[in-house]
Amino acid sequence: MCQRIAQGTRWARCGHFQRHFIRGIVDCASYRCSNSVKHPDSCIRPNCHCIRDWSAEIQEDIDTADDYCWACRSARERAAGRS
Ligand SMILES: [Zn+2]
Ligand SMILES: [Zn+2]
Ligand SMILES: [Zn+2]
Repeated sequence: MCQRIAQGTRWARCGHFQRHFIRGIVDCASYRCSNSVKHPDSCIRPNCHCIRDWSAEIQEDIDTADDYCWACRSARERAAGRS
């Protein structure tokens, strides 16, 4: 399976990663993988049964925010509002 290389912000308090963009792809070079450049043109997505999933993405931190991410922050605010 191929891997995507993502760049984004690391939220230091919760450890979550906020992806900004995909910088590149690590190609697994398998013709059975529909994400690979080796995947044959005769084998047409989405009808083929080749691997379509991505491996766990590689996360590159381009900056770090000393805070919770948006999802964690709103979850915490909801929890706080309820009490
Ligand atoms: Zn692949
Ligand atoms: Zn295929
Ligand atoms: Zn979070």
